Amino acid sequence: MSTSNLRTRDPIRTCKKTYTNYRSFKKYLAQDFNNRCGYCDDFDGWIGGTSTYHIDHFAPKIKFPLLENDYTNLVYACSFCNRFKSDDWPSEDHTISVVKDKGYIDPCDAKYKGHFERDLYGNIIPLNNVADYMHNKLQFFLARHRIIWNLTRLKIQLDELEGLATRYKAEKEKYDKILHLYFELSIEFQNYLRYLLGENFQDGT
Ligand SMILES: [Zn+2]
Repeated sequence: MSTSNLRTRDPIRTCKKTYTNYRSFKKYLAQDFNNRCGYCDDFDGWIGGTSTYHIDHFAPKIKFPLLENDYTNLVYACSFCNRFKSDDWPSEDHTISVVKDKGYIDPCDAKYKGHFERDLYGNIIPLNNVADYMHNKLQFFLARHRIIWNLTRLKIQLDELEGLATRYKAEKEKYDKILHLYFELSIEFQNYLRYLLGENFQDGT
């Protein structure tokens, strides 16, 4: 089965500001994490944007209060990952995030992407024991993660084709080919929405 990377862009903490309340960092975190949950990569746009996302303390603030307002310890996270991770931590040292294959990899660590991949359907696949631990603890198996991944993928592809159609409007052969692909992808998108909504879709009329 063909697989792909967990995420297309890696988060990077660039904010150099200091605040006495970590909540003030939210807009910088959203930017640095590309509006995606650091752990599961769910795009926040599908569920209401930045206001619906949380700020996770990678090393929990209850155990390490000195890190409460330290930007290097903050992760932009969906409410699911943040809640499931909660105050779980495998050691008494904030620099030791993994003990005997239990614990967490910082989403901004360059090695994070080597721990997970996506299968063809958008499921998050753990690639080693620590990743297994995170996968279970953060419940990466929930349907929401593959649904959000698929919606994002289809939207991006439709946007790209729309851009190409505008660009090649004057070249009939290319334009027709692009329109054909756009139509096919639109049907795939509609079918996916029908699959998701099932019998529950009501148009309000
Ligand atoms: Zn998440």
